[in-house]
Amino acid sequence: MGYCQVIVDIAHERVDRVFTYRVPQSMALLPGMRVLVPFGPRKIEGYVVCLAEAAEYPEARIKDVLRPLEDYPALLPPLMALAQYIRDQAHCPLVEALRLLIPAQMRGERVREKTEIHYVLAFAPAALDEKLASNSRAPKRQRVLRALAQGPMTQAELAAQVPGPVDALRALVDAGLVDRQAHEVLRKPYDHAQTRTAPDPHLTPEQRGALQEVLPALAQGTGRFLLHGVTGSGKTEVYIRAVRQCLAMGKTAIVLVPEIALTPQMVDWFRGRFGQVAAVLHSRLTPGQRFDEWRRLRRGEARVVIGARSAVFAPVSDLGLVIVDEEHEPSYLSDRMPRYDARDVAEARGRVEGATVILASATPAMDTFDRAMRGELTLLEMPHRVLGRPMPAVHLVDMREELRQGNKSVFSGLLMEELTLCTRQGQQAMLFINRRGYNTFVKCRACGYVVRCAQCDISMTYHQDGHVMRCHYCGAHRDPPEICPACGSLHIRYFGAGTQMVEEAMRRFLPQVPVLRMDNDTTRTRDAHWDILQRFRQGDAQVLIGTQMIAKGLDFPNVTLVGVVAADATLNLPDYRAAERTFQLVTQVAGRAGRAEKPGTVVVQTYAPDHYCIQAAARQDYRAFFEEEMGFRRRQAYPPYAMLCRLLVEGEDGQRVAHIAQKLDACLDAFFQKRPALLRQVLLRQVEEAPVKVLRGKARHQVFLKLSRDADTALLDELCALALMDWPGAQVYAEINPLSIA
Ligand code: ADP
Ligand code: ZN
Ligand code: ZN
Repeated sequence: MGYCQVIVDIAHERVDRVFTYRVPQSMALLPGMRVLVPFGPRKIEGYVVCLAEAAEYPEARIKDVLRPLEDYPALLPPLMALAQYIRDQAHCPLVEALRLLIPAQMRGERVREKTEIHYVLAFAPAALDEKLASNSRAPKRQRVLRALAQGPMTQAELAAQVPGPVDALRALVDAGLVDRQAHEVLRKPYDHAQTRTAPDPHLTPEQRGALQEVLPALAQGTGRFLLHGVTGSGKTEVYIRAVRQCLAMGKTAIVLVPEIALTPQMVDWFRGRFGQVAAVLHSRLTPGQRFDEWRRLRRGEARVVIGARSAVFAPVSDLGLVIVDEEHEPSYLSDRMPRYDARDVAEARGRVEGATVILASATPAMDTFDRAMRGELTLLEMPHRVLGRPMPAVHLVDMREELRQGNKSVFSGLLMEELTLCTRQGQQAMLFINRRGYNTFVKCRACGYVVRCAQCDISMTYHQDGHVMRCHYCGAHRDPPEICPACGSLHIRYFGAGTQMVEEAMRRFLPQVPVLRMDNDTTRTRDAHWDILQRFRQGDAQVLIGTQMIAKGLDFPNVTLVGVVAADATLNLPDYRAAERTFQLVTQVAGRAGRAEKPGTVVVQTYAPDHYCIQAAARQDYRAFFEEEMGFRRRQAYPPYAMLCRLLVEGEDGQRVAHIAQKLDACLDAFFQKRPALLRQVLLRQVEEAPVKVLRGKARHQVFLKLSRDADTALLDELCALALMDWPGAQVYAEINPLSIA
């Protein structure tokens, strides 16, 4: 008699432990399998953690496993270990971490294997003549038999040879001459992408240098690298060679890319080089496609996976390599529960499975580069573009000066000249603006009233299509006011430029030049990103206007001009990372120009031409920026020199929310009385309204903490424990170095 220990698929503190079930004699179970088990009056899904010979409960109290949900373990053993790491980091029930490891729709059996019916002859080929003779009065049946003699076929394939085969086929099946066989088929994404089978280029000396360090580490199953390569230095080719070596060793590889918009291009390259062993995993796949790619990986049919953040959980065995492309991108942080940083998970997984990890970027995150400086990561540098191609020439334009000279357009004189030149020569340009919509806010000149969302403490953005104002936080919309709702003045004015305004300015300035726009408003459907990029690549448009989406690692050989319409739009955000984000954005966008034979020009428009981040970005000088910025972080005690944490309280009733924030603060007092030594790790602690006071109609308060960078985990555990307590009338979230402190 065997038993097994099961984690049930209910996310609640009270059931966050294993339960023992009996395994019926006829059932073969393995650790990691998903099973259906009785739980109280219900039947629920669970995960088998381990098998056991004996049970520590009285036999009568133990129930039987009802059935396995698949005939293979959905969870690989190393991934079970990873789930425990995530639970410890995110302070969530284990089952929530386990749920990250399988396609969501597998739970509740909302997605299944897709099968196709094949028709086959039910007799030996030698008997064909005899069977044909016995159907001599049914010519259609004879034709069906002859067709199937070539091999099994679906009904559709058969119909291509024998039109209208349905009745004949049914008669043959009934007569026992033809069998129906169910075949599993896989739904593959991106079948519409043409895969170019490009020959291998000759490696540059810098690419060779990087690989000379990576490949030996790969062979040993060790190594944590930061590949710092300027835009256009050929990092992708390094990935490809490392992955190839990894596959040749019989191991598997995971390549993470920041966003869906980027994936098609990467997928193209990888499919071109790796063919069918490459799989794609990301959230925009249909559930069926996602499930099937997941199973191809699980069965070892695909051995390299490219995908967004969650692909770090891909079910591959014998992992040899994880690459995180554009590692500085915020999209690697999951802000949904359970929170995780895909870069940390990649490193944890590398440790568990003995895999090499490469983080790569032209503009590494401050903390990543700092870790490389301190020797936690091996730094690999590729400071030059491939084939001696020059970095693009960057021109800074002071927009205050433009205004003084009477130019009120969103385009400076220089940008207009360059746009004219570029488009006249038949080349392409990209214009980058950090805000979508038409105007970024609407304000009363008389009293200063700004139109805000009724649900959120956020100014609303004017969108010209539909003539409406939208909240970019909750999606609420309203008509723009004709008169000021506060003072009745008619002097209501529109300020700030968004993508729609730039598009319109472009159409007015050069009406004959075709333009495409890419932002959250134009990419709502599944394939919209891919379509827009594909149309731009084909030359359907000469100018692509977009938000940060176009700043990512896109490679368009015909783009020779990049315009950054308002470089400091991000610089004025109330966020300590504003300079870092601005530097990254400007450097990355500038890096889109002149990537092929033709040299590139970049025009950066700014109101703060002297700021060190703009200056360093114009020179594409990462080191200079890093030094300045680290000085600022050290002086102000910001990450990576400190940790920012908060307990965020949200609820309908503002007074109650404020009261709970005070109570949380008092709990912290009590905690520090017990552990006074930890008080020294607190650099700052305050109870206050959150920067965004109201969001989606909920009042928000916070206990904000700045901790020294080596803060004790006991302190972090306490914050998480406080958040998990019952706080009637409110939700409390513990956030440690969150993506945004809004
Ligand atoms: P990065 O990701 O570092 O910005 P990419 O990997 O996109 O740069 O490479 C930039 C361009 O250089 C691409 O068009 C790529 O095909 C090309 N390239 C890369 N390596 C080589 C090489 N060794 N020889 C010639 N072209 C190369
Ligand atoms: Zn007013
Ligand atoms: Zn809102």
